[in-house]
Amino acid sequence: MQNFGLDSSYYPPKWLGLRGSNDKSYEFAHTLRDGEKFEFSALKPKEEYDLVVVGAGISGLSGALFYQNKFGKDKKILILDNHDDFGGHARRNKFQLKNGTILSYGGSESFQSPKALYSKEVNSLLEQIGINVDSLAKRFDVNFYPDLKLSRGAYFSKSEFGIDKVVSGNPGSVLSDEVPKDKLNARDIQSFINDFPMSKKDREDLIELFQDNQDYFAGKSLKEKEKLMAKTSYKDFLKNYVKLSDEAIKFFEGTTDEFMALGIDAVSCDDARAAFLPGFDSMGLEPLDEESLAEMEEPYIYHCADGNATVARLIVKK
Ligand SMILES: Cc1cc2nc3c(=O)[nH]c(=O)nc-3n(C[C@H](O)[C@H](O)[C@H](O)COP(=O)(O)OP(=O)(O)OC[C@H]3O[C@@H](n4cnc5c(N)ncnc54)[C@H](O)[C@@H]3O)c2cc1C
Repeated sequence: MQNFGLDSSYYPPKWLGLRGSNDKSYEFAHTLRDGEKFEFSALKPKEEYDLVVVGAGISGLSGALFYQNKFGKDKKILILDNHDDFGGHARRNKFQLKNGTILSYGGSESFQSPKALYSKEVNSLLEQIGINVDSLAKRFDVNFYPDLKLSRGAYFSKSEFGIDKVVSGNPGSVLSDEVPKDKLNARDIQSFINDFPMSKKDREDLIELFQDNQDYFAGKSLKEKEKLMAKTSYKDFLKNYVKLSDEAIKFFEGTTDEFMALGIDAVSCDDARAAFLPGFDSMGLEPLDEESLAEMEEPYIYHCADGNATVARLIVKK
């Protein structure tokens, strides 16, 4: 890896074009896959290290820092990565414009539920590199969209619904919502759904589902229900148990993409429940444990300007 920070001409965040896992980054892995052999046994080591870390993502970098903490700052550590920049999934993009610099994340964005999820080791690492999550939270303007009288909505496209239409005022909860519940500028669920460009029957069925008064797995034991929750995709649940039409199911397409990077055909009912999707409140399931709830409800407000690249950079600096 290059000598980051010491040579100002080498600065990957300013390079444009495809960044991240480009062809070069997996060239050697593919060569090995294709049967190439490399003979290292005749090579004599030229340098010695106390620790060699493979992978310069946040795990590898913090591993190196933990090692130094334990064995001393004088320890010599080599960190290898198959990319031209460190950070792994936590990297930044940087653009120099006439009016100044634009900095943004080039990978992972935010600290996810630090109060609920972070261990004492993670918290001590953050403290050591000078990050205070409460200060980050204070600087996140949760009122930005509410004060503009904006709300969350749903877009119905002409190709799928015969008309291009935006319906605003969605009262639904989303995972790790950064907008406080009382500032959603939401309507009640009936009035929101009744504006959907769908048949009366579909709208009524959706309203009923959102009211969540039915046990869609009625007649099954708790054990059977738990198995179904784990094994049934949310899409199959909506089709086969809630009995929504294909048209009504389309409303849910895309709702799990952002957090789970998977469509509702690939997300289990368990995961759908943990993403606040409706249908599970009257099934008599075990309540979600406190930790999961805290994780779901903790807002997404802990951001550095370049996302978690700041963590990687501060560890390297340290
Ligand atoms: C799109 C996306 C968004 C995300 N958003 C968030 C978020 O907002 N908040 C959050 O907390 N988390 C988020 N995550 C998850 C978070 O990015 C990761 O959990 C974290 O960055 C993983 O760090 P890591 O060091 O374990 O792995 P990585 O970041 O993957 O780093 C591993 C590094 O090791 C390299 N490597 C692997 N094998 C070798 C080898 N044999 N030789 C050399 N190098 C090797 C890899 O190429 C990589 O550079 C997101 C992830 C993705 C993909």
